[in-house]
Formats: sequence, structure tokens, C-alpha cells
Amino acid sequence: MSDRYDRQERIEGWDQTKLETAYVAVVGAGPVAQAATLCMAGLGVGELRIFDNARVSSNYLPSNFQMRGAKPGESMAKVLEQRLQKFNPIMKIKGLHWKFDQHYFADAVFGRKPDVVLDCTNDPYQELILYAYGQANGIPVVNTSANENKYELAVLMPDRNFKVPEDFYLDDTSLEKVLAKIPYDYIQAKFRGEDQKGLASLMVGGLATDQVRKFIMPLDEADRPLRGIFRYNELSKDRIQLQLGSKAPIGDVSSALSKIVWPDELNIVIVGAGSIGNSAGLALAVSGGSTINAHIFDKDEVEEVNLNRQVLFKMSDIGRNKVDALAQTMNEINGNINVFPHPEFFTADTKLPKPDAILVCTDSFRSRKLVNDYAKLHGIPLISGGTNFSSFDVVNYVPGTTRCLCEIDVDVNAEKEAEAARHSCIHVVEPSVIIPNWLAGVQMVMQIPHALSPADHDPVSGRITGSIYSPNLMNVQRKPICDCADKMQKQKKRSTRKKRKPASSSTASA
Ligand SMILES: [Zn+2]
Repeated sequence: MSDRYDRQERIEGWDQTKLETAYVAVVGAGPVAQAATLCMAGLGVGELRIFDNARVSSNYLPSNFQMRGAKPGESMAKVLEQRLQKFNPIMKIKGLHWKFDQHYFADAVFGRKPDVVLDCTNDPYQELILYAYGQANGIPVVNTSANENKYELAVLMPDRNFKVPEDFYLDDTSLEKVLAKIPYDYIQAKFRGEDQKGLASLMVGGLATDQVRKFIMPLDEADRPLRGIFRYNELSKDRIQLQLGSKAPIGDVSSALSKIVWPDELNIVIVGAGSIGNSAGLALAVSGGSTINAHIFDKDEVEEVNLNRQVLFKMSDIGRNKVDALAQTMNEINGNINVFPHPEFFTADTKLPKPDAILVCTDSFRSRKLVNDYAKLHGIPLISGGTNFSSFDVVNYVPGTTRCLCEIDVDVNAEKEAEAARHSCIHVVEPSVIIPNWLAGVQMVMQIPHALSPADHDPVSGRITGSIYSPNLMNVQRKPICDCADKMQKQKKRSTRKKRKPASSSTASA
């Protein structure tokens, strides 16, 4: 019996059999599909069919991370099939070199009726065809679109009263006409022809996968699919806009912030190479940085129970140091990333060149407290991710601009954790699953350019959260900046003065 799904099977209401007998049709093999199918392979969806007629480009970009090492000209759907099959050999996966250009072929190529159709294209023709197919066959359609800074997610419940329009034959001139007849406004041509890029694609792929899961295996009555459209814009102060209901006016999140600029050279420390560390590592590899130096700290080795959510590891990595396995895959995805693996704990005495930011990807409050103190003392931006089986939160500390990790009561929680460890010798295994970890890691990396130029990019003081139970999916919660760093600096000066005695007044400003 495989241990692969052990951590998620510990979640109350989880039924792995429902996932294992499900069939999801995925349309598109680009960056969004590559993210979503990897998340579904983590969950262990029984059967996937992937449809796309695109071919591997001779100009490989890390956003197409699953195409790494593939020969130019190969079918992307087939390469994706092979890649996923290596990651999860238990699944039945088929990549088909196929583009939906008219609706009447859908029945034949889908084979048996899918439980859910997941549309990962930016192509309004295909979206319309899938919409009509889903409506006519009683199958929910999860629709995604993405470009560099924006993504959208919509869930289309089948409507028993829907009839495919008689003149539903698509060509360029009829597109607008057909769009006007559709009772939902989710199908829009605004992403048409735009390239899907790394981080936005990873986020929407993860969010869409959880919508798929909700149809196949809801945990309980409250675990329901999104009713409407979720929009995210990295260039907006609000970031998120939600449109509930089927016929609300077409909206958009305003782009008020300056263009996201990644520095030419980026020096990052990642603390933790587990679930969040894996997706942060992937996100960093597909991000917009041109040269990235990443120091990764983790003492653990890869185990089979990690594979349901630590998606940069393969079966053959079991027993290796996590940092080495993670470094290897990050390098395969992006040749311009220099990963320095450290199979050890990050401590207050760790000596490194001062990084541009530290990402804390551990589930331990004690290590988060340690890094929070380190960041406050040295004035380094810090981005922290935390998860449980159903939710995540991302907090970033930007010296002088945002609240620190006191936002998540890091000192109190670290003490509670230490206390619990003193009184118990039994290590409790917490349930864990890919989606919250995936979303936390990617959202953390999205925060990097915001944290590095806070004046232009408004890093959120407070937290960005998400929950499978939230009707909004994600929320931005703003809180006032704290004075923890000032207090710490003053305390440090006081203790240095005491040591040096007699103190002179001039040392106080040193
Ligand atoms: Zn604070």
C-alpha cells in the first residue's frame, strides 16, 4: 500500500476513492494547464485527458516549466502527459494533440463524459465550445484565463434550460454575435492572444484545481464551488475583485500601480524545502528575475508521504536531502537560477551575504520567530507563508513600511509551540494537502517585487489569506504598521551600552 496520499487522507471528509475514480478533461497544455495538472497529480485524480494542438517552442521559457528538456516541435499535450506520468505513475493520463474548433466534435474526443471540464486556454472560441458542451451535457466547466499580471477564474454550473444556439458555428465574424447570446458574461475576449506567464498561471492553476476537487469530492456541505468570477490583478491596490452571480456587469480590477519590475539580480534565502518551499522554489524559478541566487535551508530528506504536495520531488528522490532535490529541479526549470543548498537549520548565527528578502516556508512558529527577529535586526524584507489543510496566509514584513510577523502573534505562538514540545514526546502528524501550500508559496514569490520597491508596489501591511471555505476564495486584510523593530533596536542599544560601560552618549546613535 502506497503512502503517497497518507497526509491528505487524514483530512476529515476526505475520500481518495472519489478522486481516484474521477475523470477530468483539461483543455490547453500551456502554463495554466501545466500548473493545474501538476496540482491534480498531487491530489491523485484518477484519469486526466489533456487537449492541445500546440507544439513545444524552440525558445523555451521557464513559464512552460513542464516542457523543460522537451524537443522543439513535440506535441505539448503529449510531453505534459509523460511529465505527469513520471511524477505520479498511479494516474491514467492521456495527452491528445487536438484543438476544439467546433463544438460537435467534443463528445467523440472526450470519450466517456468527464466529471468536470477544466478550460486552461485564453482562447474565447474554445471557451465558448466548452461552455456549450458543459451546458448541453450537464457537466460543470471551470474556466481560467491569465496573462503576466492578471488572472481570472469562473465556474459554470450546468443549466438544464440551456440550448446550444442553432447557428453556433464559430468563425471570426460570428464570435461577437455568439458572445452576446451567452447568458454568462464570463467568456470575454480580453485575454485573447495574450501569453500566459509564470506566477499568475501558477496561482490560477492551483485555485482552479481546488474548484475541480469541490465537484468531485467536497469535504462537507460548506465546501462549495465558487458562484461567479474571481479576478486578480497584481497591479491593483485591491488585488482582488469578485463578481458573484451570473449576470453582473463586466468588470475589471483597476491597474493603479506601476509596472512590476524584477531586479536584474535577486538574492533570496528560502527557509524550508517542504510543501511551501517546493511551490515557492517553483515560483521563483518561473518568476521574472533574470539572475537569481537562492540559498535554501532544510535538514530533512524526501519521504514518500511528501509526494502528494511537494511537487518538485519525484519517486527517485526518496532518501535524498530535500534541498539537493529541490535545487536540481529549480535548475532544470531555469538555467539562470543559482541554487545553494544548505542541508541544515537556518539560525541566528547563519553567515550569508545580506539577501534582498527571506522567504519563510516552514510550518514552525519557532523558526518563523527566529527569522522575524533576524529580519527586524538586520532590516531585511521577510515574506512568510503559513497553511493548514484548508487555508493559507502570507504576511510580509517590509522594514519601515509594513507590520512584522506580530500580525500572526509569532512570539506567543512560538512559545506555545516550545511549551507543547517540552510536554510531549509524541510527534503529531498534521494532515496536509497540496493546494493551500501551493497557493502560499506562489503568493509569497508574487510579493517579492512589492517588498523590494514598496513605494511603487504597495506591499500589503497585514496579510493575504485564502480558504477553501471562503466565498471570496482570497482576501486582503490590511493592518497598521507596528513598532516591533524600533523596540528591538532600542533594546539592543541598551544592552550594548550596559556591556560597554561606561557608556558615552555618542554610542547611542551608532
Ligand atoms: Zn510587529
